[in-house]
Amino acid sequence: MNLTVIGKYGPYATPTGGACSCYLVEGTDYKFIMDLGAGTLGKLRAKVNIEDVDFIYITHLHYDHTSDLLTLRYLLEDKKKRLKIYAPLNETPWSKILFTHPLFDVTDTSTLNSIEVKTKGGATLKAELIPTIHPVFNLGIKISDGEKTLAYTGDTDYCDAVIKLLSGADLAVCDCSKPTGFKSAHCTESGALKLYAQTHTPIIASHQNEDYDPAAFFAANNPNIVSAIEGKTYHL
Ligand SMILES: [Zn+2]
Repeated sequence: MNLTVIGKYGPYATPTGGACSCYLVEGTDYKFIMDLGAGTLGKLRAKVNIEDVDFIYITHLHYDHTSDLLTLRYLLEDKKKRLKIYAPLNETPWSKILFTHPLFDVTDTSTLNSIEVKTKGGATLKAELIPTIHPVFNLGIKISDGEKTLAYTGDTDYCDAVIKLLSGADLAVCDCSKPTGFKSAHCTESGALKLYAQTHTPIIASHQNEDYDPAAFFAANNPNIVSAIEGKTYHL
């Protein structure tokens, strides 16, 4: 299983070309995307043909995780390609705008605690979905291809749910990059140290502020946690 960081910033794209949340996951017989925030579609297309993608998993409906779904429709229309999307829907005007399109084959995950996906290439992917603590409903995902298991928090504050999500995974992409002491609905770098201590799962710290990179903090405190690098592929 390979994970490529397409975009790692929030809550908006940066003046130097950094994009919001989006991750590409690939194995020999599957390809899928986790979140599709602002500025990510072009970077994603540089790595993968949208026709080859099995599905998109959306953790929650904040704009920095979803907004490029809007222009993705035009690409799907040009390609005449219908695409599977898993997302926690809610009856808001925004969710209707986001997901109402004939080329989006949407499954509402908001009442699910697991999904199983058969890919075009013949893989069976099994995922556990775990709600985290965030101002809007967010479902972290722990997904396995039968050999390796990847966890992705989406957005979250430090909480027991994230410990459950990371436990047993081979690698985790976490919202845990805010500076120590930073008050927000996101886990801090100090929280990341606690997550590793409780799970021993290697962590890629993502969802970063454009003005703060936690790389030096993790290098000094725990080399099993690394700051996400856009465009880099991590092998599980
Ligand atoms: Zn969010």
